[in-house]
Order: sequence, then C-alpha cells, then structure tokens
Amino acid sequence: MEDKVYDYIILGAGVGGAIAADKVKKLTSNFLIVEQGGWPNPKNFTHKKSLLKYYRNSGVNPIFGKHIFSYAEGQGVGGGSVINGGLIWRTPDHILEEWISKYPENYHVRNISRYFDEVERELSVTIQKDYGNSVYDFDSYYLEKQGKRKKQKVVNVPRALKGCVRKNNCPSGCIVGAKQSLDKVYFKKVKDHILVEHRVLSVKKKGDLFSVKIKSDQGLKKIFSKKLVVSLGAVNSGFLLLNNKLIKSRSLEFQFHVNLKSIVVFKDNVFAQKGTMFTKQLQEYEKENIYIMPTNFNKVYLNTVSAGFSDDIKVYLNENLSKSAIYTTQIRPESKGRIRSFLGQKVVTNNFSKNDYKKMKRSLKILCELLFSDEVESIILPSRRGLMVTNENYIQAIDTLDPRGLDLLSVHLMSSVPLNSLEAGGLLNSFGELYESKGVFVLDSSILPSNIGESPQGTIMALAKSIVNTWTN
Ligand SMILES: Cc1cc2nc3c(=O)[nH]c(=O)nc-3n(C[C@H](O)[C@H](O)[C@H](O)COP(=O)(O)OP(=O)(O)OC[C@H]3O[C@@H](n4cnc5c(N)ncnc54)[C@H](O)[C@@H]3O)c2cc1C
Repeated sequence: MEDKVYDYIILGAGVGGAIAADKVKKLTSNFLIVEQGGWPNPKNFTHKKSLLKYYRNSGVNPIFGKHIFSYAEGQGVGGGSVINGGLIWRTPDHILEEWISKYPENYHVRNISRYFDEVERELSVTIQKDYGNSVYDFDSYYLEKQGKRKKQKVVNVPRALKGCVRKNNCPSGCIVGAKQSLDKVYFKKVKDHILVEHRVLSVKKKGDLFSVKIKSDQGLKKIFSKKLVVSLGAVNSGFLLLNNKLIKSRSLEFQFHVNLKSIVVFKDNVFAQKGTMFTKQLQEYEKENIYIMPTNFNKVYLNTVSAGFSDDIKVYLNENLSKSAIYTTQIRPESKGRIRSFLGQKVVTNNFSKNDYKKMKRSLKILCELLFSDEVESIILPSRRGLMVTNENYIQAIDTLDPRGLDLLSVHLMSSVPLNSLEAGGLLNSFGELYESKGVFVLDSSILPSNIGESPQGTIMALAKSIVNTWTN
C-alpha cells in the first residue's frame, strides 16, 4: 500500500500552529498536526503534574554561557497558551515604529494592527473587573497605588479570559477553564487532524515531498506531505531547520526576555494568593524595555522562587507567607542567544553584554524605589542566595551586587527565523516560507523581526494571521 501524502503537515500544536491549522482547514481536509504532548486535562493542573506534562523538560532548558540560566516553554495541544498568563498585548508602539522604519518593505508589520482586533475577539480579550481595594489582587492594587503616588504609568492588563474567578493557578493551567488557551479556541475544531504524543525527530526533502520522522511509545514512523509548516517554538523550530539542513547556516540567533523575580515582604498580612496572576503593569519604563508587574502567588510558587536562597531567608519567608508577594521585572536584553546543532543535539548559548547587566540592576532599583513605603518591611532580590534589602540600604546593595549571580528565567523566546527581506537579515519571505527551502513555512515565535520587550503571544498571532492570509491552494 502506498503511503498517504498529506497536503500539509503542521509540526507543533502551539500558538503559531493554531493559526496555521485555522487557515489550513479552509484550504484542504487532507492535513495533519503533530504534537509531542497531549491534550490538556484540568485534572493535571496541579503544580507538580503540570510541570511534568505541560512544560517541556519540566521547565528546565539551560542557556549556556558565562551566566547559565533557564528558559521555560509549553508542551501539549495549545502549547505555551495552556500554562501562560493569557496576557494578550499589542506590539508596543515604539517597537512597531522601529519595525516600520527599519523594515519598510515588510508588508506584514505595516498591516499587523488590523489583525489584533481579530485576535482579541477570538480570544475574548478583556480587562478584568477591578475591585479597587486590597481584598483581591493586593499585589496589583499596591503596584497601582505606588505608581499613582510617584506619578508613574501603570496600566490595566488585557487577558484572554472568560469568567476568571481568581484561583491563582495560571502557570499550572486554568482549573476553571476561564483562560482562553488555544486548545479550546482553535484546536478543538480540528481535533480529528491532531496526532498527539508524537515527537518530530527529523525532516527530509525527497523530490517534491517532505518525509517527517516521528516517534511515539509505539515506535518510529514516517509521514509525508507536500507542504510543511514548522511551529515548534523559536528554539525548537530553529534547531529542526538547522539540524536537517533546511537552512544552511551553522547556527541561528534568537532573542528573548529576562525575568527577575523579587519577593516583597509587607508589614501586615496581604494574602497575595487571593487573586489572579496580575491585573496591573508598570509601563513607565517601557521605552527602556523594562516592565514591572506582580505574578502568581502561593506557597509552592514562593518555594520555587526562593529554592536557592539561604536557610535564614527561607525561614524568614516561611514565617511571613501571608505578608509576602512576588513581583517580576522583565527586561529586553540587547544580547542575542545562539542555537547550534552539535552531534545532532540542540545547544543553546548566550552571553550578556555590560549594558544588559546595567539594565538588570537598574530594573531592580526601579522596583525598590517604587515599592518601598511604610508598608513594606523588606524586599528579597533574586541573587542566587537571596539578597534581603530594606528602604535604607537597597541603593548601596544593588550598586555593589554582582549581576552575574542573579537568578534569571526566560519564558519568551523569539526571532530565530525572522520574517524579513534577505537584505534585512530575514529568512522567510512574505508567505512565511523559507528563502532557502521552498515548501517549508515557519509560523511561531521564530518569525518576529526582532525582540518586542512585551509578552509576545498577541504579536505572534497577529503576524501569523497576516501571513496565512496570503496562503492559497
Ligand atoms: C510560563 C509562561 C508564561 C507565559 N506568559 C505569557 C503571557 O501571559 N503572554 C504572552 O504573550 N506570552 C506568554 N508566554 C510566552 C508564550 O506562551 C509563547 O511566546 C508562545 O507560546 C510561543 O508560541 P510558539 O508557537 O512559538 O510555541 P509554543 O506555543 O511553545 O508551541 C510549540 C509547540 O510545539 C511542540 N513541539 C516542540 N518540539 C516538538 C517536537 N520535536 N515534536 C512535536 N512537537 C513539538 C511543543 O510541545 C508545543 O506544543 C509565556 C510562556 C510561559 C512558558
């Protein structure tokens, strides 16, 4: 019997894969989506089970270099959208202006705005009702209060939500189904076309066809298609293309954000676990590419953030659980990471510049300056053993802090296979197709022309929608 040939195979059922599937289903019924993880199941939305099932490599993916840190990415139908915060931002104005002036020939960045309306409608993007007091989301309430006091810009946060009841479980999966993750919004409509729990190993071009080797508990298998859409996430897509020589370079650059998580200990109880991820973000320093916001809080998340801290600080935090909240400073480094294939294995590296370290320290100073008041006892900064500072000593403590010891995490990776002209260093034409390999399309966070500073899901989806609008039979 001859092997079946699909018109399209989509590799990866994440954010970009959802937009690809939504378009491809209108072009043909002969398509397949291959995803390494399974369907999300709310029974598994506990911290422990979620890490195992819905985070690739349980959330630990090293970025090697002089300062080793980790990145996290989603796994399973819906990809990152199942375990992310559901924040759907539009591309920051200053980034969009930069793209339009730097890449005047890039049709999609000029037209991206119109697709945000579609994304926001489909994902039920909403600003959460604000209680305007400290009963729920104290951490967000306090951020706004301090912002107002210091006349700084704090904005409401747009999220993909329907009926959030503030269970504060967003990064382990939404147990009440309020988060509009893409398994629900897009993939349910194509469920008969999804092959779950199959890992993509390699891709080969044979004549006009692509042969994809996949692996499951049942063993190895080859599947064939006329066109291929690669949507495995910025690092995995880049690696697959490099490793299978669909791109001839020896390595690829990628860009990312860095998160630093600090713990603020208040003098009175704040019960930060009563609430959702966050409802307010400080955007006063947006042009410097620094954002500040709270994040989900409970004992498990606190233990994760403080895992490497000294015993003294751990004991202190344990005694002050109901008085604590976690805040994130997010920065856009100027350094770029690198993806290589070494003996067929993925190697991801980065080295921060002096400016990046300056920015990390500046972001911590901004955080302390903003949040310290009569209500705050101390802030524990994310140096590996934990650095406890007070309103009196934080400036000197941060000035003398060695930033190479900061505990960092990235959950936003992008721009490994940018959509741009060849002259601008792009690898994809305006159909999202590789210049170097006809019939191979890339549609995920890889395609962003550059680092956007703000959470990227909205921009990935809007750009992807603009691209698939060019696809015809
Ligand atoms: C904890 C966390 C919180 C976040 N919060 C936000 C937020 O609030 N707002 C926001 O805008 N962004 C957020 N992000 C980032 C956002 O989720 C990602 O930018 C987005 O999911 C990237 O989309 P993608 O299509 O590139 O990849 P993904 O959504 O990661 O999809 C890639 C898919 O490919 C699959 N895959 C990979 N390799 C293989 C393989 N070899 N074989 C088969 N399948 C494979 C993966 O399992 C995954 O399902 C967050 C991310 C994390 C991890």
